[in-house]
Amino acid sequence: MAIEKATIVLYPSMGVGHLAPMVHLAKRFVQHGFSVTVAIADQTPNSSTNEAMSNLSMANPSISFHALPLVSFTPAENSHPLQVIYDTIREYNPKFLEFLTSLSTTTTIHAIVIDFFRTDAIGIARQLGIPVYVFFASGASILALSLHLPLHHATSKTSFKDMGNATVNFPGAPPIPASGVPETLLDRASEIYHTRIRNFTQLREVDGILVNSFEALEQKAVKALKEGLCLPGHTMPPVYCIGPLITVSQEKSLLEKNECLNWLDSQPKRSVIFLSFGSAGAFTAKQINEIAIGLEKSGQRFLWVVRSTDNPKKLCVSLPDPDLDSLLPEGFLSRTKERGMVVKSWAPQVEVLNHESIGGFVSHCGWNSTLEAMVAGMPIICWPLYAEQRLNKVILEEEIKVGVVMKGYNEELVSAEEVEEKARWLMESKEGQMLRERMVAVQKKAFQALAKDGSSEMVFTSFLRDLRIIKSTTRADQ
Ligand code: UDP
Repeated sequence: MAIEKATIVLYPSMGVGHLAPMVHLAKRFVQHGFSVTVAIADQTPNSSTNEAMSNLSMANPSISFHALPLVSFTPAENSHPLQVIYDTIREYNPKFLEFLTSLSTTTTIHAIVIDFFRTDAIGIARQLGIPVYVFFASGASILALSLHLPLHHATSKTSFKDMGNATVNFPGAPPIPASGVPETLLDRASEIYHTRIRNFTQLREVDGILVNSFEALEQKAVKALKEGLCLPGHTMPPVYCIGPLITVSQEKSLLEKNECLNWLDSQPKRSVIFLSFGSAGAFTAKQINEIAIGLEKSGQRFLWVVRSTDNPKKLCVSLPDPDLDSLLPEGFLSRTKERGMVVKSWAPQVEVLNHESIGGFVSHCGWNSTLEAMVAGMPIICWPLYAEQRLNKVILEEEIKVGVVMKGYNEELVSAEEVEEKARWLMESKEGQMLRERMVAVQKKAFQALAKDGSSEMVFTSFLRDLRIIKSTTRADQ
């Protein structure tokens, strides 16, 4: 009789930046002999998660994907877009329970790994007696800060937005100005602030937290997490840094040669700046115009992903392609056609970053983009836009020293002059070259962490060992 493989259920949040690293985690489990089902819950019309799911499922036949049935849910008007995501996620709990109950009749579910936005599903795993872990798709420093925030909330009465530029010091996280915390945490009178504090408090309840980072990258944060410094007086769940979980190279057969990769083939080595702002980063028409003027004046080669103009109410939605003729300065494309390329909406970022013609990256500092840049050894001009990206910028600029900030990112407009200056600085200056060298050193550390005897591989093995112990304890308790 064939021996049934133990099943792991992964439950990602909405958005490509959450789904893609979870699929990489799924691959790790498969490599270790588990069978994996990824449960998808997203009912956004034109959902970018669902679009990504169909691509990822085609590329990964060894992983099962299961879309939960739609729930009928109308978000409250004027809710913060992230609040809508939390509310939608909670509405899916009954469907997730039904799915797990049905799956349990055909296989043994060994563990559930939920995205950190899905902590409202912890109770379901507990109800079924299944160990539950969180996958934290950002870095260890942000995790340390998130775990500590509920304690800060309990002991302070002032909103971060009212603290001006006072420095906030949380164990394991870099010192940041109070205004630099994610926008959802600025105002303690807001609903989203309280939702997030509840979310961070629930993180304490899981059997462990898997983090998409590696120990050599964030040593201070890892120490604070291991020693429980960010959660004094409470029991810390074990934390496992198992990253970077990203695509290092695509299987050739799955990669259609994209037009921009062909164009890169014709460019000199290390000569092109890549500008890309994640799955949801979008600018106003005025800002796009300013970037174009700056790039043109800089004289540098560039590959630029332009998305439709700002639509802050819609996260996780595939937007229509931008109308470049109306967005870019007249004649821009023809004047720059020998040395620049504009791509509408989406480029194969990992392949681009690893192309030998690319020499620098202007990024919104999403954590996946940050790790991808590190693995490609690509220095970053930081232009944070939303979520925890301002914190990632501090880590890149001040802690690891592989990024330099685009001035004005936190004002109404980044000027064309600044874009021009930073593009030249990155590609032509000695300091820009030094930034690249530091990033190449980080790249080496990332590969060391991923090697067979590297820290992330060892930590993943120790996680599997702990998982087996927890599973047998859970069974014995029942
Ligand atoms: N991405 C891509 N092409 C694009 C824009 C984004 O492949 O044109 C990918 C990028 O490689 C990364 C993910 O989308 O893996 C974005 O995740 P990140 O955490 O950087 O930002 P988010 O979209 O979550 O803000």
